[in-house]
Amino acid sequence: MTPLPPGSTIGILGGGQLGRMLASAAAELGYRTHILAPDAESVAAQTASSFTRADYHSRIVLDEMAARCDVVTYEFENIAIEPVEYLATKVPVHPAPKALEIAQDRATEKAFVDAIGGRTAPWRKVETLEELETALATIGAPAILKTLRLGYDGKGQVRIAEAGGAAAAWEAIGKRPAILEGHVTFGHEFSIILARSADGAMVSYPPPWNEHKDGILARSSLPAPAEIANQWAIAAALTGRIADQLGYVGVLACEYFATANGPVFNEMAPRVHNSGHWTIEGAVASQFENHIRAICSLPLGDTALTAPEVVMDNLIGTDADNWAAILAEPGAHLHLYGKGDARPGRKMGHVTRLKRG
Ligand code: ADP
Ligand code: MG
Repeated sequence: MTPLPPGSTIGILGGGQLGRMLASAAAELGYRTHILAPDAESVAAQTASSFTRADYHSRIVLDEMAARCDVVTYEFENIAIEPVEYLATKVPVHPAPKALEIAQDRATEKAFVDAIGGRTAPWRKVETLEELETALATIGAPAILKTLRLGYDGKGQVRIAEAGGAAAAWEAIGKRPAILEGHVTFGHEFSIILARSADGAMVSYPPPWNEHKDGILARSSLPAPAEIANQWAIAAALTGRIADQLGYVGVLACEYFATANGPVFNEMAPRVHNSGHWTIEGAVASQFENHIRAICSLPLGDTALTAPEVVMDNLIGTDADNWAAILAEPGAHLHLYGKGDARPGRKMGHVTRLKRG
C-alpha cells in the first residue's frame, strides 16, 4: 500500500467530539481534514480545515466531498449506510461499509461474533411482543431488551427483572425490533481497541477497565485489574479475528465483560472509542493517530503506556464546569469538546490523569 502523503485531505462524516479529536491528530501528521455533518453546532468543524454543513444524502454534496478528499472515514456508527456506500464507489472509505452494516444491527453483530467463535450473552432477535415473551421464557430473567438499531450510551434499552416484565419492557422501548439478552454476571467491563492497516498489520492497546454510570462510560483506568489482565489475550485475539474477517482498516473497539468463565463479547464500534480517549496522553501513539495512520497506509504507532497508571474520567453535563480546578491539578490533562449546552448526560469533555510511579 502506498502511503497517502502529508498534505492530503481526509474526509470525516460526522461532526462530534470523535471527529474533533481525529481532525487534531490528522493535523499533527500534516493532513487536512474536511467534515461533513448536518448539525448547526459541529465541534469537529472547530478543529478541521473545512466543513460542509449538509445532509448526508445529497449526491451533489457527496460528489463534492469525494472530489476534494483523498480518503474518507466516519466518526459515528449510526450514520446511514447509503451515503457511505455511495462515497466508497468514488473514493477509498475506511473502515469499509460492511463493518458499519454489521455494527449497526445488534443481532447481525452478535451472530457475526458467534459465527467466528466468540462468546456472547444468550440472545434472541424479537420483532413482536409474542416473540419477546417466548424469548424471555427461553433466556429467563433478569434480561435486557435493547433496540436493534440506534442505541448508544444506554439509550434504547431496558432491564427486565422478572418473567412477567415483557409487556412493560416492550412498551418502554417503543415496540421496535430489538434483541433480548440474558443478564451477564461480570466482575469488570473492559475494551480492546485495535488498529489494523490494509496490509493486515495490527496493533492493540492494553485494555482499560471501564466503569459505567447510568449507561454512560464514566471512567477508564489502566493498568486493569487482574481479572481483566487474565482475559486480555483471548479478547484481543477475538477482536483481531473480527478485524481480519472484515478486512478492517482503521481503529476498531470491542467491549467485553470479564466473567468467571472468560471474556463475553458485548458490542463493537467501527471507530475510535470513548474508552480509548486516555491514549492521547497515556499511550505513545493515540487511538486517533493510529486511526489516521491506518487509513492513510502509514506504519502503525506504538500502543505502550506512557505512565504506570492512567485514568480517564468523562465530564458529563455540568461536570465540565469544574474545568478551572482540573487545570490547577498537576498531571491532569483536560479536554473540552467545545459544546455549548451542558445538557444532563451529554459528554462535554474528559480528563486524563497520569500517575507517575
Ligand atoms: P450502548 O450501545 O448503549 O453502549 P451496551 O450494550 O454497551 O449499549 O450496554 C450499556 C451497558 O449496559 C454495558 O456497558 C453494561 O454495563 C450494561 N449491559 C449491557 N448488556 C448487558 C448484559 N447482557 N448483561 C449485563 N449488563 C449489560
Ligand atoms: Mg456499549
